[in-house]
Amino acid sequence: ETALIQVRNMKKYYQAKKGLNKLKSGNTYVKAVDGVSFDLRKGETYALVGESGCGKSTTGRTLLRLHDATEGEAIYNGKDLFKLSNKEMNKVRKDMQMVFQDPYSSLNPRKRIGNILEEPLNIHNIGNKSERTDIVMEVMSKVGLQVDHYYRFPHEFSGGQRQRIGLARALVVDPKVIICDEPVSALDVSIQSQVINLLQSLQRDLGLTYLFISHDISVVRHISDRIGVMYLGNLVEEGYTDDVIENPKHPYTKALLSSVPLPDPNIQRERVILQGDIPSPLNPPSGCVFHTRCPFAMDVCKTTVPQSLNLAGNHTVRCHLHDEGITTEEKKVVNA
Ligand code: SF4
Ligand code: MG
Repeated sequence: ETALIQVRNMKKYYQAKKGLNKLKSGNTYVKAVDGVSFDLRKGETYALVGESGCGKSTTGRTLLRLHDATEGEAIYNGKDLFKLSNKEMNKVRKDMQMVFQDPYSSLNPRKRIGNILEEPLNIHNIGNKSERTDIVMEVMSKVGLQVDHYYRFPHEFSGGQRQRIGLARALVVDPKVIICDEPVSALDVSIQSQVINLLQSLQRDLGLTYLFISHDISVVRHISDRIGVMYLGNLVEEGYTDDVIENPKHPYTKALLSSVPLPDPNIQRERVILQGDIPSPLNPPSGCVFHTRCPFAMDVCKTTVPQSLNLAGNHTVRCHLHDEGITTEEKKVVNA
Protein backbone atom coordinates (compact mmCIF):
# COMPACT_ATOMS: atom_id res chain seq x y z
CA GLU A 1 0.00 0.00 0.00
CA THR A 2 1.21 3.48 -0.83
CA ALA A 3 2.75 5.55 1.90
CA LEU A 4 1.71 9.17 1.68
CA ILE A 5 4.24 10.16 4.32
CA GLN A 6 7.19 8.05 5.40
CA VAL A 7 8.49 8.99 8.83
CA ARG A 8 11.92 7.62 9.60
CA ASN A 9 13.86 7.80 12.85
CA MET A 10 12.16 11.03 13.88
CA LYS A 11 13.56 12.57 17.04
CA LYS A 12 12.50 15.63 18.94
CA TYR A 13 14.67 16.58 21.87
CA TYR A 14 14.00 19.67 23.94
CA GLN A 15 16.65 21.59 25.76
CA ALA A 16 15.98 20.91 29.43
CA LYS A 17 15.43 23.86 31.75
CA LYS A 18 18.60 24.78 33.57
CA GLY A 19 17.33 24.25 37.12
CA LEU A 20 15.88 20.89 36.24
CA ASN A 21 19.10 19.94 34.57
CA LYS A 22 21.16 20.38 37.72
CA LEU A 23 18.81 18.21 39.74
CA LYS A 24 19.00 15.32 37.34
CA SER A 25 21.84 13.26 36.03
CA GLY A 26 23.46 15.94 33.90
CA ASN A 27 21.34 15.18 30.84
CA THR A 28 20.64 18.23 28.76
CA TYR A 29 17.77 16.98 26.64
CA VAL A 30 14.24 15.87 27.20
CA LYS A 31 13.80 13.05 24.70
CA ALA A 32 10.15 13.69 23.82
CA VAL A 33 10.32 11.63 20.61
CA ASP A 34 13.26 9.29 20.31
CA GLY A 35 13.52 7.65 16.91
CA VAL A 36 10.02 7.00 15.61
CA SER A 37 9.39 5.40 12.20
CA PHE A 38 6.04 4.73 10.54
CA ASP A 39 4.20 5.10 7.24
CA LEU A 40 1.06 7.12 6.91
CA ARG A 41 -0.76 5.33 4.10
CA LYS A 42 -3.00 7.13 1.65
CA GLY A 43 -6.64 7.14 2.79
CA GLU A 44 -6.08 5.40 6.11
CA THR A 45 -6.56 6.43 9.70
CA TYR A 46 -3.39 5.74 11.62
CA ALA A 47 -3.81 6.13 15.36
CA LEU A 48 -0.98 7.01 17.69
CA VAL A 49 -1.95 5.91 21.17
CA GLY A 50 -0.28 6.09 24.54
CA GLU A 51 -0.48 7.87 27.86
CA SER A 52 -0.07 11.60 28.22
CA GLY A 53 3.57 12.59 27.77
CA CYS A 54 4.52 9.62 25.55
CA GLY A 55 5.37 11.92 22.64
CA LYS A 56 2.37 11.33 20.39
CA SER A 57 1.35 15.01 20.17
CA THR A 58 4.98 16.01 19.69
CA THR A 59 5.17 13.52 16.82
CA GLY A 60 2.19 15.16 15.10
CA ARG A 61 3.44 18.68 15.67
CA THR A 62 6.95 17.85 14.51
CA LEU A 63 5.55 16.34 11.34
CA LEU A 64 3.81 19.64 10.59
CA ARG A 65 6.97 21.45 11.59
CA LEU A 66 5.21 23.46 14.26
CA HIS A 67 8.66 22.98 15.75
CA ASP A 68 11.85 21.62 14.20
CA ALA A 69 12.77 17.95 14.27
CA THR A 70 16.04 17.13 16.01
CA GLU A 71 16.78 14.25 13.65
CA GLY A 72 15.19 11.98 11.08
CA GLU A 73 13.10 12.50 7.99
CA ALA A 74 9.52 12.67 6.81
CA ILE A 75 9.19 12.00 3.09
CA TYR A 76 6.17 13.49 1.36
CA ASN A 77 5.91 13.68 -2.44
CA GLY A 78 9.53 12.62 -2.69
CA LYS A 79 10.76 15.43 -0.45
CA ASP A 80 11.90 15.49 3.14
CA LEU A 81 9.57 17.85 5.00
CA PHE A 82 12.27 18.52 7.57
CA LYS A 83 14.59 19.91 4.90
CA LEU A 84 12.13 22.22 3.15
CA SER A 85 12.57 25.98 3.38
CA ASN A 86 9.86 27.81 5.32
CA LYS A 87 8.42 29.03 2.03
CA GLU A 88 8.22 25.50 0.59
CA MET A 89 6.81 24.20 3.88
CA ASN A 90 4.06 26.81 3.86
CA LYS A 91 2.87 25.39 0.54
CA VAL A 92 2.87 21.87 1.97
CA ARG A 93 0.86 23.08 4.98
CA LYS A 94 -2.12 23.50 2.69
CA ASP A 95 -2.04 19.71 2.25
CA MET A 96 -1.55 18.97 5.94
CA GLN A 97 -3.90 20.48 8.46
CA MET A 98 -4.30 19.99 12.19
CA VAL A 99 -7.36 19.68 14.41
CA PHE A 100 -6.86 20.19 18.13
CA GLN A 101 -8.57 18.94 21.29
CA ASP A 102 -9.98 22.35 22.14
CA PRO A 103 -10.68 24.40 19.02
CA TYR A 104 -12.26 27.16 21.11
CA SER A 105 -8.94 28.38 22.46
CA SER A 106 -7.73 28.97 18.92
CA LEU A 107 -10.91 30.68 17.68
CA ASN A 108 -10.71 34.47 17.87
CA PRO A 109 -13.67 35.37 20.14
CA ARG A 110 -14.25 38.69 18.36
CA LYS A 111 -14.48 37.23 14.87
CA ARG A 112 -17.49 35.78 13.16
CA ILE A 113 -17.28 32.13 12.11
CA GLY A 114 -17.36 33.06 8.42
CA ASN A 115 -14.31 35.28 8.84
CA ILE A 116 -12.50 32.69 10.92
CA LEU A 117 -13.07 30.10 8.21
CA GLU A 118 -11.91 32.47 5.48
CA GLU A 119 -8.56 33.12 7.12
CA PRO A 120 -6.79 29.98 5.84
CA LEU A 121 -7.99 30.86 2.32
CA ASN A 122 -6.47 34.34 2.67
CA ILE A 123 -3.22 32.89 3.98
CA HIS A 124 -2.94 30.43 1.10
CA ASN A 125 -4.22 32.89 -1.51
CA ILE A 126 -7.10 30.72 -2.59
CA GLY A 127 -9.95 32.32 -4.57
CA ASN A 128 -11.30 35.87 -4.68
CA LYS A 129 -13.65 37.36 -2.10
CA SER A 130 -16.86 35.84 -3.41
CA GLU A 131 -15.26 32.48 -4.17
CA ARG A 132 -13.97 32.37 -0.60
CA THR A 133 -17.47 32.91 0.74
CA ASP A 134 -18.73 30.07 -1.47
CA ILE A 135 -15.95 27.73 -0.33
CA VAL A 136 -16.66 28.52 3.32
CA MET A 137 -20.42 27.97 2.89
CA GLU A 138 -19.81 24.64 1.17
CA VAL A 139 -17.43 23.41 3.88
CA MET A 140 -19.82 24.57 6.60
CA SER A 141 -22.54 22.42 5.12
CA LYS A 142 -20.13 19.45 4.82
CA VAL A 143 -19.46 19.54 8.57
CA GLY A 144 -23.12 20.07 9.47
CA LEU A 145 -23.13 23.79 10.29
CA GLN A 146 -26.07 25.98 9.21
CA VAL A 147 -25.83 28.90 6.80
CA ASP A 148 -26.72 31.43 9.52
CA HIS A 149 -23.81 30.20 11.66
CA TYR A 150 -21.61 32.16 9.25
CA TYR A 151 -22.40 35.38 11.15
CA ARG A 152 -22.17 34.01 14.68
CA PHE A 153 -19.35 34.21 17.20
CA PRO A 154 -17.42 31.26 18.72
CA HIS A 155 -19.03 31.62 22.17
CA GLU A 156 -22.45 30.92 20.68
CA PHE A 157 -21.51 27.32 19.90
CA SER A 158 -21.45 24.11 21.94
CA GLY A 159 -18.32 21.98 22.29
CA GLY A 160 -19.37 19.61 19.52
CA GLN A 161 -20.20 22.51 17.17
CA ARG A 162 -16.86 24.14 17.91
CA GLN A 163 -15.12 20.97 16.90
CA ARG A 164 -17.12 21.09 13.65
CA ILE A 165 -15.79 24.64 13.20
CA GLY A 166 -12.26 23.38 13.90
CA LEU A 167 -12.75 20.71 11.26
CA ALA A 168 -14.20 23.20 8.78
CA ARG A 169 -11.19 25.45 9.29
CA ALA A 170 -8.91 22.52 8.46
CA LEU A 171 -11.00 21.53 5.43
CA VAL A 172 -11.39 24.90 3.66
CA VAL A 173 -7.95 24.62 2.06
CA ASP A 174 -8.78 21.14 0.71
CA PRO A 175 -6.05 19.22 2.56
CA LYS A 176 -4.92 15.65 1.97
CA VAL A 177 -3.88 14.87 5.52
CA ILE A 178 -5.42 15.92 8.81
CA ILE A 179 -3.56 15.44 12.06
CA CYS A 180 -6.26 15.09 14.71
CA ASP A 181 -4.83 15.59 18.19
CA GLU A 182 -7.31 14.25 20.77
CA PRO A 183 -10.17 15.71 18.67
CA VAL A 184 -12.97 14.29 20.81
CA SER A 185 -11.34 14.00 24.24
CA ALA A 186 -12.99 17.16 25.59
CA LEU A 187 -16.47 16.14 24.40
CA ASP A 188 -19.30 14.20 26.04
CA VAL A 189 -19.46 10.58 24.93
CA SER A 190 -22.65 11.07 22.89
CA ILE A 191 -21.09 14.03 21.06
CA GLN A 192 -17.84 12.08 20.61
CA SER A 193 -19.55 9.52 18.41
CA GLN A 194 -21.17 12.24 16.29
CA VAL A 195 -17.79 13.83 15.61
CA ILE A 196 -16.19 10.41 14.95
CA ASN A 197 -18.97 9.58 12.48
CA LEU A 198 -18.47 12.94 10.80
CA LEU A 199 -14.71 12.34 10.54
CA GLN A 200 -15.37 8.97 8.94
CA SER A 201 -17.87 10.25 6.39
CA LEU A 202 -15.60 13.16 5.48
CA GLN A 203 -12.75 10.70 4.99
CA ARG A 204 -14.86 8.60 2.63
CA ASP A 205 -16.16 11.59 0.66
CA LEU A 206 -12.93 13.54 0.41
CA GLY A 207 -10.32 10.75 0.40
CA LEU A 208 -8.62 12.15 3.49
CA THR A 209 -5.77 10.56 5.39
CA TYR A 210 -5.83 10.91 9.17
CA LEU A 211 -3.14 10.75 11.78
CA PHE A 212 -5.33 10.32 14.83
CA ILE A 213 -3.69 11.02 18.17
CA SER A 214 -5.50 9.75 21.25
CA HIS A 215 -4.97 8.31 24.71
CA ASP A 216 -8.35 6.57 24.46
CA ILE A 217 -8.23 3.13 22.87
CA SER A 218 -12.01 2.75 22.98
CA VAL A 219 -12.26 5.78 20.65
CA VAL A 220 -9.38 4.66 18.47
CA ARG A 221 -10.73 1.16 17.87
CA HIS A 222 -13.78 2.63 16.12
CA ILE A 223 -11.95 4.94 13.76
CA SER A 224 -8.46 3.64 13.05
CA ASP A 225 -7.24 1.19 10.43
CA ARG A 226 -3.90 0.79 12.14
CA ILE A 227 -2.52 1.58 15.56
CA GLY A 228 0.93 2.63 16.68
CA VAL A 229 1.51 2.40 20.43
CA MET A 230 3.93 4.88 21.95
CA TYR A 231 5.77 4.74 25.24
CA LEU A 232 8.32 7.28 26.40
CA GLY A 233 9.07 8.66 22.94
CA ASN A 234 9.25 5.22 21.30
CA LEU A 235 6.87 3.39 19.02
CA VAL A 236 6.72 -0.02 20.72
CA GLU A 237 4.06 -1.80 18.66
CA GLU A 238 2.25 -1.31 15.38
CA GLY A 239 -0.38 -3.26 13.51
CA TYR A 240 -3.89 -3.42 12.13
CA THR A 241 -6.34 -2.19 14.74
CA ASP A 242 -8.14 -5.51 15.24
CA ASP A 243 -4.86 -7.42 15.55
CA VAL A 244 -3.42 -5.01 18.10
CA ILE A 245 -6.62 -4.92 20.14
CA GLU A 246 -7.36 -8.64 20.03
CA ASN A 247 -3.81 -9.90 20.10
CA PRO A 248 -1.42 -7.32 21.55
CA LYS A 249 2.22 -8.38 21.56
CA HIS A 250 4.03 -5.78 23.64
CA PRO A 251 3.64 -5.96 27.43
CA TYR A 252 2.89 -2.24 27.52
CA THR A 253 0.09 -2.60 24.96
CA LYS A 254 -1.26 -5.55 26.98
CA ALA A 255 -1.33 -3.35 30.07
CA LEU A 256 -3.07 -0.50 28.22
CA LEU A 257 -5.66 -2.95 26.91
CA SER A 258 -6.23 -4.85 30.14
CA SER A 259 -9.37 -2.82 30.84
CA VAL A 260 -10.66 -2.83 27.26
CA PRO A 261 -13.12 -5.69 26.65
CA LEU A 262 -12.55 -8.14 23.79
CA PRO A 263 -15.25 -8.44 21.10
CA ASP A 264 -15.89 -12.03 22.22
CA PRO A 265 -16.98 -11.81 25.88
CA ASN A 266 -16.10 -15.50 26.42
CA ILE A 267 -12.43 -14.81 25.91
CA GLN A 268 -10.55 -13.31 28.82
CA ARG A 269 -7.61 -11.02 28.37
CA GLU A 270 -4.23 -11.66 29.86
CA ARG A 271 -4.08 -8.93 32.49
CA VAL A 272 -0.80 -7.07 32.73
CA ILE A 273 -0.41 -4.79 35.70
CA LEU A 274 2.22 -2.08 35.46
CA GLN A 275 4.65 -1.41 38.25
CA GLY A 276 5.98 2.04 39.17
CA ASP A 277 5.62 5.35 37.36
CA ILE A 278 6.57 6.53 33.89
CA PRO A 279 10.27 7.46 34.05
CA SER A 280 11.38 10.97 33.10
CA PRO A 281 12.13 11.50 29.41
CA LEU A 282 15.13 13.49 30.66
CA ASN A 283 16.71 10.27 31.82
CA PRO A 284 15.05 7.38 30.01
CA PRO A 285 15.96 3.84 31.08
CA SER A 286 18.75 2.00 29.25
CA GLY A 287 17.95 -0.92 26.97
CA CYS A 288 14.21 -1.29 26.60
CA VAL A 289 12.67 1.99 27.84
CA PHE A 290 9.85 -0.05 29.37
CA HIS A 291 12.04 -2.36 31.47
CA THR A 292 11.54 -0.47 34.76
CA ARG A 293 7.81 -1.20 34.62
CA CYS A 294 7.60 -4.43 32.68
CA PRO A 295 6.50 -7.53 34.62
CA PHE A 296 8.37 -9.70 32.08
CA ALA A 297 11.67 -7.82 32.06
CA MET A 298 14.81 -9.95 31.58
CA ASP A 299 18.48 -9.20 32.07
CA VAL A 300 18.89 -8.44 28.38
CA CYS A 301 16.15 -5.79 28.59
CA LYS A 302 18.31 -3.58 30.81
CA THR A 303 21.23 -3.50 28.44
CA THR A 304 19.98 -3.95 24.89
CA VAL A 305 17.53 -1.80 22.94
CA PRO A 306 14.97 -4.12 21.31
CA GLN A 307 14.81 -3.72 17.53
CA SER A 308 11.54 -3.57 15.64
CA LEU A 309 10.54 -7.18 14.86
CA ASN A 310 8.16 -8.01 12.02
CA LEU A 311 5.57 -10.56 13.03
CA ALA A 312 2.93 -12.03 10.71
CA GLY A 313 0.31 -9.69 9.24
CA ASN A 314 2.16 -6.37 9.21
CA HIS A 315 2.36 -6.49 12.99
CA THR A 316 5.59 -5.14 14.46
CA VAL A 317 6.82 -5.08 18.05
CA ARG A 318 9.89 -3.89 19.91
CA CYS A 319 10.30 -6.46 22.64
CA HIS A 320 12.94 -9.12 23.34
CA LEU A 321 10.27 -11.66 24.27
CA HIS A 322 9.50 -11.98 20.56
CA ASP A 323 13.14 -12.16 19.50
CA GLU A 324 13.95 -15.75 18.55
CA GLY A 325 17.64 -14.88 18.61
CA ILE A 326 17.51 -14.60 22.39
CA THR A 327 17.90 -17.86 24.30
CA THR A 328 15.59 -19.15 26.99
CA GLU A 329 18.39 -18.75 29.49
CA GLU A 330 18.68 -15.07 28.60
CA LYS A 331 14.91 -14.75 28.85
CA LYS A 332 15.14 -15.55 32.55
CA VAL A 333 12.72 -13.12 34.18
CA VAL A 334 14.36 -10.72 36.60
CA ASN A 335 11.52 -8.46 37.74
CA ALA A 336 9.14 -11.19 38.91
FE1 SF4 B 1 9.50 -6.06 28.78
FE2 SF4 B 1 11.94 -6.73 27.97
FE3 SF4 B 1 9.93 -6.73 26.26
FE4 SF4 B 1 10.91 -4.45 27.19
S1 SF4 B 1 11.98 -5.92 25.91
S2 SF4 B 1 8.79 -4.97 26.97
S3 SF4 B 1 11.38 -5.01 29.28
S4 SF4 B 1 10.16 -8.04 28.03
MG1 MG C 1 -1.07 15.39 23.92
